[in-house]
Amino acid sequence: MKIIEVGSRGLIFEFEDPYLINVYVIMCENRVYICDTFCGPASMSKIIERVRENGYKDQQIRVFNSHHHYDHIWGNCAFQETKIFSHHKCRDLIEERGQGDLVEFNEHKKGDVRIVMPSMTFSEEIIFHDDCVKFFYSPGHTVDSASCMDMQDRVLFVADNVEAPVPYLYNADFGTYLKTLERYNETDWDYMLSSHDHLMHDDVLLRQNMKYLNDLLRWDVSINEFSERAIATHVMNLIEIASELNIESDSIIKHHYARVLEFVRADEMRAVPDQLVAKLSQLLN
Ligand SMILES: [Zn+2]
Repeated sequence: MKIIEVGSRGLIFEFEDPYLINVYVIMCENRVYICDTFCGPASMSKIIERVRENGYKDQQIRVFNSHHHYDHIWGNCAFQETKIFSHHKCRDLIEERGQGDLVEFNEHKKGDVRIVMPSMTFSEEIIFHDDCVKFFYSPGHTVDSASCMDMQDRVLFVADNVEAPVPYLYNADFGTYLKTLERYNETDWDYMLSSHDHLMHDDVLLRQNMKYLNDLLRWDVSINEFSERAIATHVMNLIEIASELNIESDSIIKHHYARVLEFVRADEMRAVPDQLVAKLSQLLN
């Protein structure tokens, strides 16, 4: 785990196993905010230790869950339930899928994971005015995604809504997702932090993700220019959102699925596992 300082009061705990995952901490005068809790309670004590070492001994801790995915909430059990908050849809989804995810992603557990749900939820936003910190609903990657803005240091934490090379999609509402990214684009920030990339100072990746969603809205994605990793993610996205689409009756969508299938079946595309190619092919039958 690496610790990176951001602005005057932020710390990024960058974990590398099972893959790059960031926990963002804002140490304020009145409270300490912990954005997401990684894959389990084992690493949370190190975070609290470091915060206390920095002189933040008396401040209450408030834990924010950006969305319901396991790699953002499994460390919740290191904290008292009363200190955790999220968007209300995030709480609902943890309730619905938490136990199932524990089984499905069992090998990614860090410590003795127990599902602990947020005790407090918000709909649009919650602002801690005394600390200049805002949490707001930002649907995109998932329907329950929310973001955090340190308004003093101008650090925007976007969780999985921005990701290299293209984001993972869990719903087909590209228009709503794009609005969220446009909102990020219109916000004055100096640093952008996503959950699975290194800290960003520019909007290159944000713009790249915006282009992907814009292209998806028209079902005209330039897959020829994609890296192998981008193609693999795109295939996973097409499989994930297929149930929301009428692939059979919509010729534009069908054409796109067929084009991607043909592309990944080409010899040089080894990054896409056979199993995914087979699933993609089934969707067209
Ligand atoms: Zn996620």
